[in-house]
Amino acid sequence: MTLKPQDLKHVNYLWDDDTADKLDPVERLRYRSNILGADQRITNTGGGNTSSKIKMTDPLNGDEVDVLWVKGSGGDLRTSTRANFASLYMDKFLSLENIYNKAEVKGVKTEIEDSMVDMYRHTTFGLNPTASSIDTPLHGLIPFRNVDHMHPVSVIAIAASKDQERLTQEVFEEEVGWVPWQRPGFDLGLVMRNKLKQDPDLKGLVMGQHGLINWADDDKSCYELTLSLIEKAAHYIEKHDKGDKTFGGQKYKSLEEKTRNEILIKLLPILRGKVSQANRFIGTIHVTESVLQFVNSVDAPRLAEIGTSCPDHFLRTKIKPLYVDWDPQNESVEALLEKLESGLVKYRSDYAAYYDACKHPNSPTMRDPNPTVILIPGLGLIAWGKNKSESRVTAEFYSLAIEVMRASEAISEYQGLPRQEAFDIEYWLLEEAKLKRMPPEKEFARSVVVVIGAGSGIGKATAHRVAAEGAHVVCADLSVEAAQQTADELIQKYGVGIGVAGTGISGCGPAIALSVDITKRESIKSMLENVVLAYGGVDNIIITAGIFVSPDKQGYIPDDKWALTYAINATGPFLVADEAKKIWQAQGLRTSLVITTSANAAVAKQGSFAYDTSKAAANHLVRELAIELSPLVRVNGLAPATVVEGSSMFPRDRVISSLTKYNIPFDESESTESLRDKLAVFYAQRTLTKSPITLADQAEMAYLLSSSKFSKTTGQIISVDGGLHEAFLR
Ligand SMILES: [Zn+2]
Repeated sequence: MTLKPQDLKHVNYLWDDDTADKLDPVERLRYRSNILGADQRITNTGGGNTSSKIKMTDPLNGDEVDVLWVKGSGGDLRTSTRANFASLYMDKFLSLENIYNKAEVKGVKTEIEDSMVDMYRHTTFGLNPTASSIDTPLHGLIPFRNVDHMHPVSVIAIAASKDQERLTQEVFEEEVGWVPWQRPGFDLGLVMRNKLKQDPDLKGLVMGQHGLINWADDDKSCYELTLSLIEKAAHYIEKHDKGDKTFGGQKYKSLEEKTRNEILIKLLPILRGKVSQANRFIGTIHVTESVLQFVNSVDAPRLAEIGTSCPDHFLRTKIKPLYVDWDPQNESVEALLEKLESGLVKYRSDYAAYYDACKHPNSPTMRDPNPTVILIPGLGLIAWGKNKSESRVTAEFYSLAIEVMRASEAISEYQGLPRQEAFDIEYWLLEEAKLKRMPPEKEFARSVVVVIGAGSGIGKATAHRVAAEGAHVVCADLSVEAAQQTADELIQKYGVGIGVAGTGISGCGPAIALSVDITKRESIKSMLENVVLAYGGVDNIIITAGIFVSPDKQGYIPDDKWALTYAINATGPFLVADEAKKIWQAQGLRTSLVITTSANAAVAKQGSFAYDTSKAAANHLVRELAIELSPLVRVNGLAPATVVEGSSMFPRDRVISSLTKYNIPFDESESTESLRDKLAVFYAQRTLTKSPITLADQAEMAYLLSSSKFSKTTGQIISVDGGLHEAFLR
């Protein structure tokens, strides 16, 4: 019996007739998918799929035909749009069974099964370019008009238990049947259809080690059934929950947040360096009550070794995490580092052994053998991925796996997927083909780039430039509001930022904003520590922060302004390098530092000698640091000249005084940017290239100097000044 909305306590009932009734049938499917995907207890990010069989007019002949609309490959139910759904002529799709049946060898994991995926394209209705997923037959072969396939924690807990078939019967009685684990594909669709033929009253099936599938002719009823079944499973689990005795009880205690962060700040760069030997990774720290209860428990080592169960989970989490048996109350951080080192060595060799034991003659080559999930008592969970979003989802998946284990151990005994089955998913040729279709990674993918001075001018332009190369950009500035503005622009452009649980850092997606005063070592240290907590480490740093103090009419600069000019333009970059050095050395990964100096550093002229001499010091600092930090860090200088566009160093009064000085006509009513343009055109005439120098020109060079394109260049100052012969370095 389907439960009423008011009886649901473990899932949110979100269906709204007023909204749904205004939509066409395909949009109703999109709506249903979005509200199912919005609740992590119903399905995980990117997991599960939905379908509707909808009567539509065939554009070829005007006839009414049945069309299967089914969530396609990739994307997430919560954010799916119409474009995420594939559409297939039902009659053509069903006729594929004839081809399947004609194959001499058929069944799960046979060649014909994999080749069916390519056949779905031939059944496309309405020129829809969306690719069908491997789960399509699970929807197409079920003779009901609406089907939901979800990965709810509560149902996976049943499906990952030793006596899953009996539990299915006990929890759902006659309503839901059970099918053992089988890799999804055409054959699994046939197995399910047969199950339904034998028992036409079935409303759904628990899929062994995998999830739930259920159906109804009406779409709202299908949605309500999905929620009702998940509620029943969750209710049953709640009744059996072991409370304090969960996971055999607690063996260790959690550390205070302050102590935990101090350890993580020390640990993360070292760990990142160790897991990033082949490919660089971005980290996510995940610390919730439930994660801590698991990592601190008696059973954690045993359960961690079994690995995750749902195939969606372990594709990210790998077959198992690395659990480090460290006593946070009685052992030192040095002991933890030693245990991590030996744990990693063992993990990699276990992974290679798993690969060797399970591989087939045509298997893809072994992937990165480092763990993507690391569990440490007292501290929590550290996840690694190729970018922030991937490591965050990996952390989410393992925390869902923890919920599955908690529930499964409460009602029965938790069971992992057999290693060979796990391997046949992980190294599935179809998965490999999907990986091969992905566009090549960008220059700064997997990298954390800190731009100091990102709130305006060259820094802001540079933040945008490196973000376009796939960087995770830390927008640092004296003004945190200005830094946040730049970070918001990047998040707007490249995707939503996500907070990092337990660290107090929000907006941690492609960009974050942090305040920094580069005249203060403590401020720099704290900014870099926040970067480590947000991403696991630091790669390139680009410093664009600087100050220009105009002398008064007599050419006088007060002593405090002289000192400030040096503190920001020369000592600041040194302090940044000196603090970053500790993190860079702990990581042991090649990186780069770019310091913005100035063409003025090489040209003596009247009136700006605090600025000019401080920049000359910065030029030499570049050379000294290049020697000091080699071979780990390349250090180069970017020497701009007279970038007036959008520059905070050219405030309105300075622009006006320059225009007056050079007898350039202007109108007081003109905007500052228009006055700056006039000055830029004038300055351009003094250069060899006769072209105004833009922020984009500077950002391009800041990017190039940081990139692999300049991997053999260090200790150099590159001028981007349009060609000023008096500033030539010699
Ligand atoms: Zn699934």
